[in-house]
Amino acid sequence: MIGERADFRSLAGEIAGEIILPGDAGYEAGRRVWNGMIDKRPLGIVRCSGSGDVLAAIAFARAYGIVVAVRGGSHNIAGNATCDDGLVIDLSPMKSIDVDQTRRRVRVDGGVVWGELDAATQRFGLATNGGLMPSTGIAGFTLGGGLGHLMRSYGLACDSLVSAEVVTADGRKLMASAEQNDDLYWAIRGGGGNFGVVTSFEFRLHEVGPIMLGGRLGYPLADGPEVLRFYREFIAGAPDQLIVYAGFSTSPEGEPRLGMRAVFNGPIAEGESLLKPLRQFGTPVQDDIKPRTYVDIQKIVEPMFPPGRLNYWKANFVDILSDELIDLLVAAYGRVPSRYSNIAVEPMGGVVARVPDTDTAFHHRAPAYSLLILGGWLGANESEANIAWVRELWDATRPLSSSAVYVNYLGAEGDARVKDAYGPNHARLSEIKRKYDPDNFFRLNQNVEPA
Ligand SMILES: Cc1cc2nc3c(=O)[nH]c(=O)nc-3n(C[C@H](O)[C@H](O)[C@H](O)COP(=O)(O)OP(=O)(O)OC[C@H]3O[C@@H](n4cnc5c(N)ncnc54)[C@H](O)[C@@H]3O)c2cc1C
Repeated sequence: MIGERADFRSLAGEIAGEIILPGDAGYEAGRRVWNGMIDKRPLGIVRCSGSGDVLAAIAFARAYGIVVAVRGGSHNIAGNATCDDGLVIDLSPMKSIDVDQTRRRVRVDGGVVWGELDAATQRFGLATNGGLMPSTGIAGFTLGGGLGHLMRSYGLACDSLVSAEVVTADGRKLMASAEQNDDLYWAIRGGGGNFGVVTSFEFRLHEVGPIMLGGRLGYPLADGPEVLRFYREFIAGAPDQLIVYAGFSTSPEGEPRLGMRAVFNGPIAEGESLLKPLRQFGTPVQDDIKPRTYVDIQKIVEPMFPPGRLNYWKANFVDILSDELIDLLVAAYGRVPSRYSNIAVEPMGGVVARVPDTDTAFHHRAPAYSLLILGGWLGANESEANIAWVRELWDATRPLSSSAVYVNYLGAEGDARVKDAYGPNHARLSEIKRKYDPDNFFRLNQNVEPA
């Protein structure tokens, strides 16, 4: 094997960060990602301290013909942040965050996770649309688009990306922005890790919080059909500042529930009045909507998705939350084989939908919802039943949803699904890939092949 000839200890002498090899302390943690289904063994892991280390790692991998995986927050369900028999370029030690309060901008290293960025920007009463989990990496999240609590107010994470520093496959360090390498700038706003290693991101910031109205509503599963029909009308008429996610999960007591999570990005009193009809509809068994800090709101989801569990997800965008689809979801969650599995109905709209769908590589801006079926379980002996539940439900929803999918929710599902993720933007991505990575050096991702 080519990689076996590579002298990884020589790479250690060229980098300021650390190299971890099989047998070293830290190898087990370093090869693992959030999804416990992924069990890969890289030849080495370069824990980068800066863009110089990234350049050295790329040069080394090229010299020895070794495949690379790029790691940010390691949350990706497909597990492309690690690999078998390759080199992991791990950006997670790169943690610089520099807030410019006056210009409302922040420059962030590629290893930062959302909890760190939210905490840093909220010190100035600012934020940009980030992930629902503090432990999700800003890098993979933004490069795929980035759906979150503030997206209806300010667009996707990639819509607030002003510039980025990208290390390319041929060892150049480029700036990507509207002024410099604008094709690359277009491509990294949704096109994932296909074009190079993004070592830093500059985001536009917005005034947010620090106190906002947010929290959850919970209903018995049996109330699901009626409550979701009301929700559908409610969210269709909601202003941009209000987002209400819906979904199915199992309560700590083991009860299957329909749940909602509401966040209002505006004055508390206005949020209270807007949310009143939703909170008064039906008979919720849980209502913890109250004023909270934005940072706390961003932590609500975290306990539901600890790292290391076995996970299998499938998703699609949905144009209409039809009665048939609602009934199907409720019935399917009634048969869920694992209490750790969920279904998420994520409302899009607002500013997301007002950005033209060819302005960024992220294309699917018109759908009303993203539907995500999240299978999660503990033991390998449960895998078959849980994967079957996810697949059967996804198959049943297909006639009722669009074929389009959010790239960051894809597992290892093949080329056709990558095309589903990019729609008509795929051809342009493929041209830009040819310009910046003609050999498809960066291929452990939702891969767009060079034209
Ligand atoms: C529990 C959980 C919650 C989530 N919540 C949300 C959510 O609220 N909204 C949402 O939109 N998505 C969400 N996601 C999906 C998430 O956006 C993707 O998993 C995303 O890829 C995570 O980014 P990461 O940096 O943590 O991932 P990683 O697994 O580290 O990276 C994913 C891929 O991105 C590329 N990549 C990462 N870093 C870089 C870099 N610096 N330069 C170039 N390429 C890079 C690589 O191809 C890599 O394989 C969630 C995922 C999980 C597991």
